[in-house]
Amino acid sequence: MAEMTAEQAGELLYKKKTVYEQKGADGAAEAYGYAEGYVKFLDASKTEREAVKAAIAMAEEKGFKPFKFGDPIKPGDRYYFNNRGKNLFLFKIGSEPVSEGVRISAAHIDSPRLDLKQVPLYETDGMCFLKTHYYGGIRKYQWVATPLALHGVVVFADGRKKEITIGEDPSDPVLYINDLLPHLGHKDDLKPLGEAIPGEKLNLLVGSVPLGDGSDAIKLNVIRILNEKYGISEEDFLSAELSAVPVGRARDAGLDRSMICGYGHDDRVCAYPALTALFETLDSPHTLICVLADKEETGSDGPTGMQCDVILDLIDEIARAGGASPAAVRAASKCLSADVSAAYDPNFSEAFEKRNSAMISCGVVLNKYTGSRGKAGTNDASAEFIGWLRGVMAKAGVVWQTGELGKVDYGGGGTVAKYISGHNIDTVDLGVPVISMHAPYEIISKVDVYEAHRAFAAFNLA
Ligand code: MN
Ligand code: MN
Repeated sequence: MAEMTAEQAGELLYKKKTVYEQKGADGAAEAYGYAEGYVKFLDASKTEREAVKAAIAMAEEKGFKPFKFGDPIKPGDRYYFNNRGKNLFLFKIGSEPVSEGVRISAAHIDSPRLDLKQVPLYETDGMCFLKTHYYGGIRKYQWVATPLALHGVVVFADGRKKEITIGEDPSDPVLYINDLLPHLGHKDDLKPLGEAIPGEKLNLLVGSVPLGDGSDAIKLNVIRILNEKYGISEEDFLSAELSAVPVGRARDAGLDRSMICGYGHDDRVCAYPALTALFETLDSPHTLICVLADKEETGSDGPTGMQCDVILDLIDEIARAGGASPAAVRAASKCLSADVSAAYDPNFSEAFEKRNSAMISCGVVLNKYTGSRGKAGTNDASAEFIGWLRGVMAKAGVVWQTGELGKVDYGGGGTVAKYISGHNIDTVDLGVPVISMHAPYEIISKVDVYEAHRAFAAFNLA
């Protein structure tokens, strides 16, 4: 038998290719059209509450109806379960027996930000501030000296709820966190980056005009303005959820407009394709569930986080309605944990192991595992499940790649995958590579978010 030539052997090698190399200009054009819808969703969804509203509006257009536990469930039904306005479950009952399992795509809709403390308002030395407590993993130095908007709700003691957005309309004022001028920054410049801005310095500047000439006159004027505009008193902050987020809309990035710069790509850049894939695959014989979770950035705790049993309650109801054992349904189910991945960044190449990093423009990223150090705290998806998914993506022509968060000893992180897989459901992380993850403005590639949509759709149909 003749020996294999070098050329033939070369065919056996794995080569990562960009979407542009694999699909040409046409594939890119389709992706750019898709990205316009994503930007609209992103702009409407700066908090988890806003994302739930935006998703419900999209779902209702597709005939989804609100669901309460106990409602009848039958094949063909399209429901959404709104969990406290912060976490959404959309599901579509398939034509096949539910004992075949359900297909879950689970993304999260909370993003790092600065939450107001419960007693936030104070005045000192001619300025009035709101104290914040940061939410999720941030590099604190990135949040100073940049315009910020306030989004959220105030719930009054009588149950009324007031939604507040300040800073997004061009005529609105913005909030701002002071930073030290470089002229006086020489001592600070010697500090480690993580110590440059302590959490207690993340105070939002909100006023400088006094009302009257007594003590705390500037604070009095600020509370007067808040009362006139929103009907709130200082005590109402006690039962409020107000968050400072970066001002403005998502924008095309790059002179070639191939990328999007915006706040909160992590993880709306996976939430949106999970939604659009669901809407595109309503004819799938499978029962499909799309989860938009809250509290991922702080550990998925609480009733709106992915560690809550509400996902089990929902699968139980669906199983019982189909006359199947809930345990059997879970055992036959599959899940894509739809979360972002760190994109390899040549400016910080020292933090990445290039061979195993997600590259921008190379499509949706599959992370077999996440975690820290020796894979601590990870769902490590099985070779069997990944093998199946490879087949699904190959058949659908999805451009995909693998990724790891960074160099082994550099840090780490996790996703909701471990909570869902802990219910005896095969789960793997699949999402979009992000540059400058958790920064006030992050970058993603338009072709990657579109391949995520195509991957979730292929999974729902396979
Ligand atoms: Mn995430
Ligand atoms: Mn994150």
